[in-house]
Amino acid sequence: MAASSLLPDQETIERIGRSNPPSEPQPALHLAKLDFSILQQCIHCGMCLPTCPTYDATKLERNSPRGRIALMRSIAEGKLGVTRAFGEELYFCLGCLACETACPAGVEYATMFEEARADIEHAGVLNTPKRSAVRWFALRVLFTRPRLLRAVGRLLRWYQASGSEWLVRRMKLTALLPADLRALEPLTPRVQPRFSDALISKNEMPAKESAARHTVGMLTGCVQDLVYPHVNRDTVDVLLANGCAVITPRAQFCCGSLHAHNGDLEASRAMARQNIDAMITASGSLEALDAIITNAAGCGSHLKHYDRLLSDDRDYAEPARAWSRKIRDIHEWLAEIGIAPPPRTESGRVTYHEACHLCHGQKISRAPRELLRMIPGIELAELPEATWCCGSAGIYNITQPEMSRRLLMRKLNRIESTGAAVVASANPGVRDRKMNVEVVHPVTLLARAYRRGSKVAAEKPS
Ligand code: SF4
Ligand code: SF4
Repeated sequence: MAASSLLPDQETIERIGRSNPPSEPQPALHLAKLDFSILQQCIHCGMCLPTCPTYDATKLERNSPRGRIALMRSIAEGKLGVTRAFGEELYFCLGCLACETACPAGVEYATMFEEARADIEHAGVLNTPKRSAVRWFALRVLFTRPRLLRAVGRLLRWYQASGSEWLVRRMKLTALLPADLRALEPLTPRVQPRFSDALISKNEMPAKESAARHTVGMLTGCVQDLVYPHVNRDTVDVLLANGCAVITPRAQFCCGSLHAHNGDLEASRAMARQNIDAMITASGSLEALDAIITNAAGCGSHLKHYDRLLSDDRDYAEPARAWSRKIRDIHEWLAEIGIAPPPRTESGRVTYHEACHLCHGQKISRAPRELLRMIPGIELAELPEATWCCGSAGIYNITQPEMSRRLLMRKLNRIESTGAAVVASANPGVRDRKMNVEVVHPVTLLARAYRRGSKVAAEKPS
């Protein structure tokens, strides 16, 4: 079949690009400025189609990477305008980047996707008063102010720990929520009593200071800081056990991926500048660091592109390039420096779910498995469809609850089939209240093994 016949048919293009009341088609600003070589990379071969969860669900060309790219290119060329239907299409996309991994032509889908969403937001084709208010509060207020985010986190913690949440559920008051939020309510993450700065000192050295072979900066994240601060502590412990001195800036900001993936590139750039400044303040200079460590897959995928994000910024282009050279996902860094074998055993069957933005966004697939295999006693059971998206995808489970739930159920069934009691993943989104397995970050399993080993060593009679 000729490649051109595989593109979205003219009727679909016209429907999405032109005739979609009530919004009038708007010209593209961001896509039109994109380097045209990126927009024309797609050779329409279709190899990405079987890997795309939305195409798999609907079998519609417009819900496929190839269809979306054709639409984005037509919009960049001015043949079509930005319409409401185009906006809905791009927000139906999970941004999982499975298409990038599958693509033999090296398509940079993530770049086009971010620019397309920026065009959608600029055109305002999806705007409603409620959506605009939620976006403004989340993107411009809550996730740009770490202190406010923590205050909201403490409030949520109080609600969860004081019994109020129990009472609300017991009285079935959650039934008053809209249907989509009601389904999500049980998945509300548990806010921890202490955040990263209470668990990690600004400067930490390996037990024998002379054993410090590397100096690294540590990123603690925003939601990660509230919900998984213990994973940050585990990361620091594993780094210390492997000869890294760790500098953790006190004032850290959201990495900006939430903003970039939701069409607010301006706020994303502001977040990037603030994080670069914070790391320079804490370390003296980025050059003093061998690496800057992140343990959150979605953040890491975005943090590595600060150079691209700030390429036109006269003051920050150079620091952003240095930043991008230094950023390492924790698995990647540990594989690079080589780790001390964990001295004692964890035991049991563990399966590994590949977070989209680790395997597709950062192309890190082998290192986490190798680290897990180094832990004596762990039996690693391969997860069928390990790289298939779990449906969490940032706030996708809020914006597209039905599709998200469908993907989560598919993932949970695959996990069940392995018989594993533990799922290791750099994406904590793989969870469900009915699921009888523990979800942990691989670095947590490693930290537990090191701690158990040092405890056993400490207990040995001299
Ligand atoms: S990012 Fe994921 S959902 Fe979107 S087009 Fe690519 S494979 Fe499909
Ligand atoms: S695999 Fe790449 S080149 Fe082929 S259709 Fe998909 S995006 Fe285009």
